Amino acid sequence: MKHNLTESYPIVKNRYEALRARNMRLDISRGKPGPDQLNLVNPMLSILTEDDYLSGSGIDCRNYGGVDGLPEMRQIFAEILDVSASDVIIGGNSSLNLMFDRISDFCTHGVCGGIPWHEQGAVKFICPTPGYDRHFNICQYFHIQMIPIEMTQTGPDMDAAETLAESDPMIKGMWCVPVYSNPTGCVYSDETVKRIARLKPKAPDFRLFWDNAYTVHNFAENRPVIPNILKECTQNGNADMPLVFASFSKISFPGAGVSAIAASENNRKHILSQIGIQTVGPDKLNQLRHIRFFKNADGVMEHMKKAAEIIKPKFDAVLTAMEEELTGLSEWSKPKGGYFIHFRAEENCAKRIVDLCGQAGLIITEAGAVYPYKRDPKDRDLRIAPTYAQVDELKSAMEIFCAAVKLSYVEKMESINIATKN
Ligand code: PLP
Repeated sequence: MKHNLTESYPIVKNRYEALRARNMRLDISRGKPGPDQLNLVNPMLSILTEDDYLSGSGIDCRNYGGVDGLPEMRQIFAEILDVSASDVIIGGNSSLNLMFDRISDFCTHGVCGGIPWHEQGAVKFICPTPGYDRHFNICQYFHIQMIPIEMTQTGPDMDAAETLAESDPMIKGMWCVPVYSNPTGCVYSDETVKRIARLKPKAPDFRLFWDNAYTVHNFAENRPVIPNILKECTQNGNADMPLVFASFSKISFPGAGVSAIAASENNRKHILSQIGIQTVGPDKLNQLRHIRFFKNADGVMEHMKKAAEIIKPKFDAVLTAMEEELTGLSEWSKPKGGYFIHFRAEENCAKRIVDLCGQAGLIITEAGAVYPYKRDPKDRDLRIAPTYAQVDELKSAMEIFCAAVKLSYVEKMESINIATKN
């Protein structure tokens, strides 16, 4: 997009310098819940009393065991993910950890008893971009080649995904964040989900990493409902293709939530045999705290409404500032849930904007982070994470952000003018 900024360089520069002189210090680089949101969950810290350690099903949560999780916790995840409790295995506090472990196990031990990925040659993954940097970090860590495809408003570019997955046996996986994708906030359309479920990957050991991190993180009137990937895949002869991940990190506490994986019986059998070697059992007392606090999936939905009352004004503060200052100059997402706003700057300006924000004390996600290998070919995509800061802080932060965007644009214009004069 070509900008139509009418303010001159000195005006834009002076404003930026005035804002820089305020010596602000704020970090909105990561999608962390704010203390106000975490406070909603504080009663959970003391919810278990001395004699409350038996689950409803009679399991002593203090002891070893229960590798697949408490039945009540599996039931809560089952309702959230629209699957059966028997489809669910409970993990520790981090779903990213579960994703890492799956990939690690596939690399060294193969998928469901198949040939280890690392013995097959150069493994590749399809990476819809802009995407989640920590997914890309996992791939990089395991030397998995990342193939970027475009993330559209309705999900990944499915023509590209089909062509790649169906032609190359070394393409072993694809990252998907189907609801309120990180960072674009898009929700996959029904058609996209169905096309994904119909994929006929060339690799028999292809797995879909279906990271449903934001399925209940809604601040619109209604929570988006998309087709159930496990059912859709099963109907298309792909029952073993999807691995569905979710967690309570942004429902309860990011440092002390509960994660889960839902998958076919065949997948679960292999996952459990690996987990059974890795651990003698997860933290069931923490699962019990979650069960006592939320009670059931309805309790989770009610809680998320309270969280939305805190989160929505933060998104509104950022979006209003962008609308007032940057309309006609740039484009950005207007999500109805999730944790991020995706900002598309002019080409070759993203790094400079991050740098200018940083000099003025505002830390935003590193430019390039939403691309594999941190390589944004057009240096234009940025991610804003409004949830950690308070609304007033965000208003000040956005003054800096908008001033930085404008300054980067006029600097670019100036350098083009100088280059053409020379
Ligand atoms: N998946 C996505 C898409 C995320 O955005 C995040 C955190 O920002 C995570 C996973 C991390 O999940 P967890 O805290 O359960 O490891």
